[in-house]
Amino acid sequence: MIADLHAHTLASDGTDTPTQLVEKASAAGLDLIAITDHDTTCGWDEAASAAERNDITLLRGIEISCQWQGISLHLLAYLHDPQHAPLLRILRRARESRERRARRITELLAADLPLSWEDVSAQVEPGATVGRPHIADALVSRGIVSDRDTAFAEYLYTGSPYYASHYAPGPVEVIQLVRAARGVPVMAHPFAAARGPVVPDELIADMARAGLFALEAHHPDHEEEQRDHALALASDLRLQVTGSSDYHGRGKSNRLGQCTTSPETVEALLAEPTAVAAVGRQLLF
Ligand code: AMP
Ligand code: FE
Ligand code: FE
Ligand code: ZN
Repeated sequence: MIADLHAHTLASDGTDTPTQLVEKASAAGLDLIAITDHDTTCGWDEAASAAERNDITLLRGIEISCQWQGISLHLLAYLHDPQHAPLLRILRRARESRERRARRITELLAADLPLSWEDVSAQVEPGATVGRPHIADALVSRGIVSDRDTAFAEYLYTGSPYYASHYAPGPVEVIQLVRAARGVPVMAHPFAAARGPVVPDELIADMARAGLFALEAHHPDHEEEQRDHALALASDLRLQVTGSSDYHGRGKSNRLGQCTTSPETVEALLAEPTAVAAVGRQLLF
């Protein structure tokens, strides 16, 4: 069984529709694909319909941006109740803050470059979560850079003079909310240091005590050493281990199924108490 537990669509900063994601995952021979857009579940329904039509299981998920002592970290959650009010409030606040922050970054860039908010908003699907990749796409559309990677390397990296942050909740609070919403929380790319500073093991131990299910040890942004550290820490903390591509479509070189999760871990995840079920083809273990 081939399972990829982390992928993005046009509902956030991916470049495929939810339907295209599911169709491509099925065509690539995956048995299970998760949709995990940043701070939104608005792609779930379309992805679920596509999964019913294709030979694949869909795991409905989300990637929630969190912050701890100024350090940004990402929490994946699967199969939670998308209507859980306290979680919805936090996600709405995060998306609103993301919009103000994207305008701020655009303003800072516009002081030096021919770029406007209209250029940026033209890159964002209605209702989608806005992120730096959309600003990158606007810089590409204006011919200022050739691709997203260059936009990040030159202008959008964390700590750049054009950088601004947005509101993000604390990880322990979010894990508690996800469990209250009967979802399964997994820490995304825990030691991907190329993205910026990473949190200490002690915080991950607190997250484990709060109900974390797994560490995403197998991820394209992890060097071998970082993967091994995640594997050792997961073993110490008795956490499961997942693997995922973090596919974003054309926006990144990550390929669907580039990293995968074992059938045993998928089975353990699906055995957790959850608010909604996976949809699509019946999984056979
Ligand atoms: P934000 O959530 O707005 O802070 O933007 C972070 C997102 O940008 C991450 O989730 C990645 O998808 C994306 N990203 C980060 N670095 C790069 C890069 N070098 N090239 C393309 N996308 C990137
Ligand atoms: Fe992203
Ligand atoms: Fe992430
Ligand atoms: Zn992601």
